Amino acid sequence: MATSASPSPTSPLSSLFFFCFCCFFFSSSFVSGAYVAYNTSASISAAKLNVHLVPHSHDDVGWLKTVDQYYVGSNNSIQGACVQNVLDSVIEALVADKNRKFIYVEQAFFQRWWRQQSDGTKEVVRGLIQSGQLEFINGGMCMHDEAAVHYVDMIDQTTLGHRFIKQEFDQTPRIGWQIDPFGHSAAQAYLLSAEVGFDALYFSRIDYQDRAKRINEKRLEVIWRSSKTLGSSADVFTGIFPKNYEPPPGGFYFEVNDNSPVIQDDALLFDYNVQERVNDFVAAALSQANITRTNHIMFTMGTDFKYQYANSWFRQLDKFIHYVNKDGRVNALYSTPSIYTDAKHAANESWPLKTDDFFPYADHANAYWTGYFTSRPALKGYVRVLSGYYLAARQLEFLTSRNNSGPTTDSLADALAVAQHHDAVTGTEKQHVANDYSKRLSIGYTEAEKLVGSSLSCLTESVLNSQCSNSVTKFEQCPLLNLSYCPPSESNISNGKSLVVLVYNSLGWKREDVIRIPVVDESVVVHDHEGNEIESQTLVISNASLKLRNSYVQAYMGKSPNTMPKFWLAFSVSVPPFGFTTYLVSTKKEAGSDVVKSTGYSSQEDQDSSVVEVGKGNLKLQFDTDEGSQFHYFNSRKLVNTSIKQSYIYYSGHDGSGSDPQASGAYIFRPDGTVPITPPREVPLTVLRGPILDEVHQQINPWINQVTRVYKKKEHIEVEFIVGPVPVDDEIGKEVAVQITTTMMTNKTFYTDSNGRDFLKRVRDYRSDWELQVNQPVAGNYYPINLGIYIQANSTELSVLVDRPVGGSSVLDGQVELMLHRRLLYDDGRGVAESLDEEVCVNDQCAGLVIQGKFYLRIDPLGEGAKWRRSTGQEIYSPLLLAFSEKDAGVNWANSHRPTFSMADPSYSLPDNVALITLQALEDGSTLLRLAHLYEVGEDKDLSVMARVDLEKLFSGRKISKITETNLSANQERVEMEKKRLKWQVEGSTRSAGPVRGGAVDVSELVVELGPMEIRTFIIYFDYMFLA
Ligand SMILES: [Zn+2]
Repeated sequence: MATSASPSPTSPLSSLFFFCFCCFFFSSSFVSGAYVAYNTSASISAAKLNVHLVPHSHDDVGWLKTVDQYYVGSNNSIQGACVQNVLDSVIEALVADKNRKFIYVEQAFFQRWWRQQSDGTKEVVRGLIQSGQLEFINGGMCMHDEAAVHYVDMIDQTTLGHRFIKQEFDQTPRIGWQIDPFGHSAAQAYLLSAEVGFDALYFSRIDYQDRAKRINEKRLEVIWRSSKTLGSSADVFTGIFPKNYEPPPGGFYFEVNDNSPVIQDDALLFDYNVQERVNDFVAAALSQANITRTNHIMFTMGTDFKYQYANSWFRQLDKFIHYVNKDGRVNALYSTPSIYTDAKHAANESWPLKTDDFFPYADHANAYWTGYFTSRPALKGYVRVLSGYYLAARQLEFLTSRNNSGPTTDSLADALAVAQHHDAVTGTEKQHVANDYSKRLSIGYTEAEKLVGSSLSCLTESVLNSQCSNSVTKFEQCPLLNLSYCPPSESNISNGKSLVVLVYNSLGWKREDVIRIPVVDESVVVHDHEGNEIESQTLVISNASLKLRNSYVQAYMGKSPNTMPKFWLAFSVSVPPFGFTTYLVSTKKEAGSDVVKSTGYSSQEDQDSSVVEVGKGNLKLQFDTDEGSQFHYFNSRKLVNTSIKQSYIYYSGHDGSGSDPQASGAYIFRPDGTVPITPPREVPLTVLRGPILDEVHQQINPWINQVTRVYKKKEHIEVEFIVGPVPVDDEIGKEVAVQITTTMMTNKTFYTDSNGRDFLKRVRDYRSDWELQVNQPVAGNYYPINLGIYIQANSTELSVLVDRPVGGSSVLDGQVELMLHRRLLYDDGRGVAESLDEEVCVNDQCAGLVIQGKFYLRIDPLGEGAKWRRSTGQEIYSPLLLAFSEKDAGVNWANSHRPTFSMADPSYSLPDNVALITLQALEDGSTLLRLAHLYEVGEDKDLSVMARVDLEKLFSGRKISKITETNLSANQERVEMEKKRLKWQVEGSTRSAGPVRGGAVDVSELVVELGPMEIRTFIIYFDYMFLA
């Protein structure tokens, strides 16, 4: 405090002196021409209406400007915003008056600022945090989105911020503050709030019809019980702001250039207005009190990037508190959401109950914020791919011991954290900002890729080299494998050399799967690590894929690929849990090997047959060559036999003409008509058949291609689509969706996941909380999908799983719809001020962005779909990680390398209902472990039960010396969190019976129990480590 770095203009002692001196002379008078010592010391008054003034700044971690531009205050022609100014000036303003308070939210900004501060300033800030003047709220790296984010990413980005706050300041944030995200998810409430240990969650954006009813009934503050499984044990007190997260109506904005009337209290100057402004304040308070329970209301005093010159706000807030309290009708005080929450709790009130979630969000009749569920599908896909990669990379970092001097996964962690922001993965940022997120992700990936390469090299050589200090094996990876671009597999199989394919499985189960790599020559043969030749199959790479490959490899790498592979080589692999197996691909020498060239068929060439059947296992599809979008689905094991039509449509994006100027854009989905994408009378089918899988290739129109795959050993359909460039030369924006149509009688009902976790029941044109006025029959029935969507009828259920966040619905009974791509020509008026018109340029030739992705479809007997959705969902989230090396002729790889490996005991795998969602070596030498039960209560007859994980077998060869269970974000012990967390009363309801949760972990047994939907987090210390 006393250092030269202290921003305080006066020492604490002298301000105390002035304060007392001035009270004596002026405090009894309203009117003064001289110095006024404002009395800002008010605390809660039991007898009055308490107006909690919460000074805050909402600092987007990228939106119109990049995160760094916002931080340093550059690019101000776009938006005058500088977070450095906010933090610098707030600290000064807080030091100037110990009664002032401020909350700070986004750790990505705070960390940038913190590392630049002097020791003196840091000391001052620590003091402010200690005294509660400065409080961290929410505390993640960003204020994450809640629709297009996966729960594992939400946990990771929150943990990153929370652990920093804990380590640096010994603080644990108490309050969820999701004030801006565009709708609110069930997982946010029970998982990212209750299980984190938050005492309350605050936000502002809910449907305008819902808000009107809640205001009317004083139901803006509720107990949100969003988990059917965890029930009241995961309740969270939830406060919805009456209008938005800004100051109340009536002129209370005080940034330097804001035009609200300031309090002019100098009687010697003109325009003295103290009483008017006090009246305005009291009126705003009474109006909010009218719609709020208890005698506590909150004024959120700030908005986007405010407090850049904090004193201009605090000067006015000081005066309001001083004069309003002299007036005496209401009690105004400096407060924080924590103080407000404690006051609400102390009121001993019963609160209305809220279940399920707050999607979709509409701010007026034609403005459903359901477009962003799909906006920027390539960025969404990139985030999802790297999320799964980050999970696997951290396992490998743990397995070979973290090296703090690098490479590490830290840079990927930061990039992924920032990408969860509610203007990042949502696709609602400007194009240059979207590019910035991708660049950060790419830099993070590149470092993690090095770590993965060296870890695998270490693990494969550790038979000979236990220290891993001089590994010589080089592993390459192929991040553009989805584009059939993989230099090692295209070039390494020649001159007697073999390609070594290492397959790493980050799931806790032994995995049988099919992998595919591009090869130039189809005369290849695959051997497993024991030298057995294994079955494989080559498939001609389609022209659509090759076209995409050529332009996008050039766009990403800046150069054209040298080689041109002609085939996919597909083969079956079997990989142990948390481990790897290696395969060798070499040139075929002798005849009679097992590589099978797929046989082809084209409906154009063969006009005779009207039915084409694919599938060599239990699942078979029969395509009608006259009507290629129609096929018959037949599963002989499950006895499912039905017809499906799979087709594409587009919605014309509304241009905002007409009586309501609302256009369809990055945020908002406002269709202006539906156009079926009707292929020519028959969609020509090209069929590739082989022993491992069959493929049906279809060109739907000049800019939509798809491949339907049926694997011999899988009982679902995999559809890979290529959509784009979406043509807009007709000056109509297009929102492209796929529809899967059956005759199932689904009674308006469908189910969508919440952030990849729970499934929520959705009923078309219906909301459980109010009588829905239907203005947008399509957009208003769209929901975010991260894992999947399913529908049920009398005897069957149809499930569709996705590879990235998308919007989806069931607009007609028996139908499932996913929006895959959006290209729009108008801005939708929510601030981004750009149309969502993504292009990719190669050699100065620009064209609309092409999206390639997958969805997975399966039909089960009613009640049997959950197991597939959950286990296949895990496989989609955590695909097998492939790494490539080469082997010279005559060298026996297995003599110098470990060909297969598992972290777990050879006899052990995780139970079918458990996933390991975090295994991370922390900087201090401890290990973070998270285990998640994958099933809800009642979801599956066999798997919705208590699960047990044996840690000794999971960590074979390592001895656990200490294990501590923590809250979800790993910043406090679980038992402490449970003790501290406030319990709330619910109107007309008793607390439900406790859910099934696992008991404490006995150190001698080391078995972790998990009840349905439970996620348990542990900090573990290992005694010693060796690679078994
Ligand atoms: Zn925001």
